[in-house]
Amino acid sequence: MSNQVNRRLFVKLGIMGLTAAPLGKLLIDRPVQAASAQRTGSKDVPKVDVNDTQAKAIYYAEDATLANGSFRKSDDQFCHNCHHYSGREGVLWGPCAIFSYRVNKDNKSLLVSANGWCRLWGPRSA
Ligand code: SF4
Repeated sequence: MSNQVNRRLFVKLGIMGLTAAPLGKLLIDRPVQAASAQRTGSKDVPKVDVNDTQAKAIYYAEDATLANGSFRKSDDQFCHNCHHYSGREGVLWGPCAIFSYRVNKDNKSLLVSANGWCRLWGPRSA
């Protein structure tokens, strides 16, 4: 009796493992691919379009050095040191709270350039 229970349990766990393994790989691979694209600046990154109406309204530029100089008060203002930015250090693209609700056609959140800037820039607290 005990051997039958153990065998059934063994078979159940085996089936669960076979089912869960591909799902786990899928869940792990996607964020890795997205992070890799964000690090390299690949075209796969879902970026905020600089010609988007909201982006234009706040003078967003992917390259802060090309931003509207009359609003950018200091050369050390970038998305990566803005309090609205939550991208990881060393990554070229990251989330901005201002665009947090914006997604592309594939329902992926739009990211801003770590080296970008807009007129809503604010310093991060220490
Ligand atoms: S709010 Fe900050 S992080 Fe967002 S686009 Fe403007 S400068 Fe960049």
